[in-house]
Amino acid sequence: MVKTIVFLGPPGAGKGTQSQLLQERLGFIQISTGDLLREAVKNQTPLGIKAKSYMDEGKLVPDELIIDLIKEKLSQIGNNIILDGFPRTVPQAKALDNLLANLGRKIDGVILFDITEDEVVKRLSGRRVCPSCGTVYHIIYNPPREDEICDKCGTKLIQREDDREEVIRKRFEVYRDQTAPLIDYYKDYIVKIDATADKEEVYNKITSVL
Ligand code: ADP
Ligand code: ADP
Ligand code: ZN
Repeated sequence: MVKTIVFLGPPGAGKGTQSQLLQERLGFIQISTGDLLREAVKNQTPLGIKAKSYMDEGKLVPDELIIDLIKEKLSQIGNNIILDGFPRTVPQAKALDNLLANLGRKIDGVILFDITEDEVVKRLSGRRVCPSCGTVYHIIYNPPREDEICDKCGTKLIQREDDREEVIRKRFEVYRDQTAPLIDYYKDYIVKIDATADKEEVYNKITSVL
């Protein structure tokens, strides 16, 4: 049976990091709406042009745009999937239920990453990403072997535009107001994990509940 897992939690909780580990070690396919949107912005597609101003301000991109984006992506994948950063609103969650039903799939589990706002600010202000292969680092918690250079592909790392303290705090507020209501929506199959633990501990916890 193919699995469909949702990663829910504030920005900076480690969802992308854990998705990458599950992809490398267990062959899950990571679907990150944030990565898909950043790609669209970079390529200046019609979606990217519409999404950019919302992303720069730390606000959510409108549901209709996100649902169209995910619909196309989901229909192309037959493997085990991690949904990273989607859904983020109750209307998105309802749309997802319909899309999955049409594909003969369903949500098998929702992992809630538990972390405080202060810890999120520390994590996101030190986050660096590889613009070429997408690998995520942290200048203190998870540094590359060579300063500011991607271990996997040698590209110079960058800091995301929205990883500045005032935008980080705005994103956390948006999470609390618009995304946290999903905890109740998914209450029957949510598993809460301590996201402040070490990366390998968090990984072990996730694989033990999957
Ligand atoms: P999200 O996808 O939830 O926004 P990321 O996976 O990008 O979060 O992680 C945010 C930052 O925190 C990154 O710099 C990452 O290297 C770091 N990080 C991820 N998991 C841990 C962890 N368990 N302990 C310490 N730092 C972590
Ligand atoms: P993080 O996990 O660090 O918050 P993401 O990469 O998931 O960041 O998202 C970056 C930005 O992309 C968000 O602040 C938001 O503007 C937009 N975005 C990503 N996913 C969604 C979504 N499911 N719904 C609406 N906006 C989204
Ligand atoms: Zn790289």
